[in-house]
Order: sequence, then structure tokens, then C-alpha cells
Amino acid sequence: MAGQDRWVWSLCPSGEFNVASIKNIAATFGRTAPVYPFFWNNFVPKKVGIVSWRAVMERLPTRNALAARNIDIGDPSCPFCGEYAETCDHIFVSCHFAQVIWLVIAQWCNIQPVIAFSLKDLLDAHVVMAGSKKRKKVFSAIFQVVIWSIWKMRNAVVFGNEYPNISKVVEESKSMSFLWIKHRTNSLDWTWNEWKSFRFVM
Ligand SMILES: [Zn+2]
Repeated sequence: MAGQDRWVWSLCPSGEFNVASIKNIAATFGRTAPVYPFFWNNFVPKKVGIVSWRAVMERLPTRNALAARNIDIGDPSCPFCGEYAETCDHIFVSCHFAQVIWLVIAQWCNIQPVIAFSLKDLLDAHVVMAGSKKRKKVFSAIFQVVIWSIWKMRNAVVFGNEYPNISKVVEESKSMSFLWIKHRTNSLDWTWNEWKSFRFVM
């Protein structure tokens, strides 16, 4: 018995069209390495996350990035140490200036010094930390604030003729993370003194 002609979607056994079948096929073609799954932490404002997100992809306008685009920027070296090319992984991770900051931040937070070889290591450091999901997320937020503050300091040095100042970055990281995290987690009972000595209930 001959039926009526009908459209058949050959990618599905049922012959019915669905989007998942297209996705499955598309996924098998020319896929490059997956993009780093950046954690957008809502304990801090978007503008803070954006710096980390751009940094981890080497998409901040560092001197090295500008030189790679043939933009004449004069001295291509790190504005903090002057010894190495200014890349994101350098200014946020391996530069001596950044290393001291991470050491002081770890002391403040009563955690082991963070061993990081790349920005990814820093941004993922909270994952293996002890404690609740909220505690890990607070650490991730603090780290993103530190990265944001280092970039601010970098711009102040490059464009404002400031001297690199470790304690300024540390103090700004402490005060801004307090302000943002306290309100965004609705932990209104946290006091500044508790935060400064990292003794608060979470
Ligand atoms: Zn440096």
C-alpha cells in the first residue's frame, strides 16, 4: 500500500527533525580544543570577572599583545619588573611583583601559598580548597578581585606614572572584596575587622 510522500530527516532514526541531531553532527566536524570554561562568579561585579576572563585568554592589551599587532609601544617589558615581556601570565602569575601579592593574600586568607604556573591555575585554585561550596566561591571571588586590582595598578603605572605598589593592591583587594562579597552573599553581619583578619562565618 503506497503512502503519501513525506519529508524524512535522515540524521534521526525516527525521520523526525530535531536540533540535537544537528548539534551531534556539528560536534564531529573541525572542532578545536575546547575553550577554557571560565567561571563567572556573581559574588563580584561583571567588570571584575571580565579582567580575569580576558587575561586567561591573553586578550588584555598588554605590551606584548600590542607589539604582536605591530603597534609601536616602545619598551615591551613588564611595567612592574622591567625584566620580562609583558604577557598576562607574566604580570598576574610569574612576575615577582605578583608573586609577593599572592603570598600576602594567602597569608591573609590563612591558606597555603598558591602554586600557580598560569592564570588557569590561579582561577581554578579554589576548586581543590577545603570547605563548603560557598567558601570555595568566596576564594574564587577574592582571586578575581586581586587580578582586577593588579590590572588597575598596571594601568596606573603605565598611564599614570605611579610606582608599583604591592600594599596598595593588597589593601584594595581586601576592601573591595569585602564590599562586594558581603553584599552579594547577603552576609550583612560580617564586619570589616573580621574580614581584615579573615575570621568570619561562612
Ligand atoms: Zn614582571
